Amino acid sequence: MTKLLPRVCFVCAATVILSGAASCGPSGSPPAPAAGTSPTVTAFLTDANAKLLRLGLEASQAGWVQETYITPDTEAIAARANEAYTKATTDFAKQAAKFGATDGSADERRQLLVLRNTITVAAPADEKEASELAQILASMNAAYGSGKYCQTPDTCLDIEAVTKILAENRDPARLRQVWEGWHAVGAPVRKSYVRFVELSNKGAKEIGFADTGAMWRSRYDMPAEDFGKEMDRLWGQLRPLYLSLHAYVRARLHQKYGDGVPAEGPIPAHLLGNIWAQNWTNIYDLAAPADGGRRVSLDKILADRKLAGAAIAKYGERFFTSLGFDPLPKTFWERSLFVKPADREVVCHPSAWDIDGDLDVRIKMCIDPTEEDFSTIHHELGHNFYQRAYRTLPAILRDGANDGFHEAIGDTIALSVTPEYLVKVGLLDKAPDTSNDIGLLLNRAFEKLPFLAFGRVVDQWRWRVFSGEVPPQRYNQAWWELRQKYQGVAPPIPRSESDFDPGAKYHVPANVPYTRYFLAHILQFQFHRALCEAAGYKGPLNRCSIYESKASGERLAKTLALGSSRPWPDALEALTGQRQIDARAILDYFAPLKKWLDEQNEGQPVGW
Ligand SMILES: [Zn+2]
Repeated sequence: MTKLLPRVCFVCAATVILSGAASCGPSGSPPAPAAGTSPTVTAFLTDANAKLLRLGLEASQAGWVQETYITPDTEAIAARANEAYTKATTDFAKQAAKFGATDGSADERRQLLVLRNTITVAAPADEKEASELAQILASMNAAYGSGKYCQTPDTCLDIEAVTKILAENRDPARLRQVWEGWHAVGAPVRKSYVRFVELSNKGAKEIGFADTGAMWRSRYDMPAEDFGKEMDRLWGQLRPLYLSLHAYVRARLHQKYGDGVPAEGPIPAHLLGNIWAQNWTNIYDLAAPADGGRRVSLDKILADRKLAGAAIAKYGERFFTSLGFDPLPKTFWERSLFVKPADREVVCHPSAWDIDGDLDVRIKMCIDPTEEDFSTIHHELGHNFYQRAYRTLPAILRDGANDGFHEAIGDTIALSVTPEYLVKVGLLDKAPDTSNDIGLLLNRAFEKLPFLAFGRVVDQWRWRVFSGEVPPQRYNQAWWELRQKYQGVAPPIPRSESDFDPGAKYHVPANVPYTRYFLAHILQFQFHRALCEAAGYKGPLNRCSIYESKASGERLAKTLALGSSRPWPDALEALTGQRQIDARAILDYFAPLKKWLDEQNEGQPVGW
């Protein structure tokens, strides 16, 4: 159950743990129903809630220390705590599945359903195997966290350094070298991953799912097979817009790099400003409109003002308080990690933590003074405000309406970081008029649309891996087939099955489901449009900021407080009035850009 572990984000990564205050449930084994005498639903849930809180707290604390102080010992401690937690969630899920469809009250049945459907990894009943699974997960996480590209034994680049080079360097040979260097981080965990798939599938089967992927797809209040089709439908809505953006960027990169970028066909993945080509904002300068698009550069503003670490996080908090939310507790500022420590290894991948299921929420993020990180800190804080909003529910229900909701809240706020907002908080003197917003829209499109494409890739790959459709000897080939299909990118150098490129993406070794980010990117625009309407805003969606709107804040707060106590369409309706996820708001938001892109692309090949 992810809710008790940090919540890992795409940009961010986090698991969230709830813990228990003092009152822990009975210790010892969960109540195994003896023949003919099942415990009542109420007694079972009371025990499960108490135990999950306690084990969640222990796993969160151990996980926090492990990720902020990577050593063999902290890795072992975190593995033990996670093992206990995973074992308990699996046991409870198994028991929850045994109750009849009409047992308990409606609220209790919701808890049973959530308990059964929302675990991320199910431990096999065999204790040795459960322990092996926990150790594999901890070691893959640690291998990624301390992964480096070493040009020579003395000159090693960590992910921060690699990210910076991919973002700023324009020498294709250097970019290719660094891209290749970072991707080597995946290869050593390939063997572990194969074993992880075997063990986690075994656990999933024991609780009644075909495999781990089917278990992941079953958490969305609809049949697992329907969920896959829903994702296809949403991507179908978006694909024409993505194709227009891709064709435009490919043509601009072809101008810049010549034959290094084919005029037709996929774009080499190392030239898009990001290790995974999931965010293209770093190459904005190569693709800006001829007049520059009059884009406001937050990178420059933050650098000029020498804003760093916690000072950047304060802007995020201030946004939420302007909507009517209470400020974050003092412990948040004391216990979070905002700056990469100079003296030790940490997992820099941003994450938001709910340590105790109550008020001990934290951020772990090595914040740079960049527009990207300014946006990411809003994303992470969205998790923390969500966590705090549902903290009075039973532990089992302390989670988002679905995991896409959890990822969408902070991003929704970040969509309100408009020039007008920057003026209000004193970061900008004057907002440019709205007569030429192509630059703003293009930059936003670079942030969101490539991510949606990549967001389809990661779990399509894992679903196939877990089901056995993609066997280990085709892991890497299948990865690149999907990357080409959805993103229209290709590796800059030939890849083989001695590589393991999915392992060079945090969420694979850390075993964090990824479809949540795809969903979140769609939901955040749907939320944004609805909250702008609640705020009484009229005008182009990309200039709407809900900053200081109490009406928007009230609507948001109500939805967050629901946690996962209701099926997600209820929560969606509370926020937007709609019960179906719909990508239409994205198309509306980017409509002026789509028109402009299609004009630029006239006579050019589109697609690959
Ligand atoms: Zn997140």
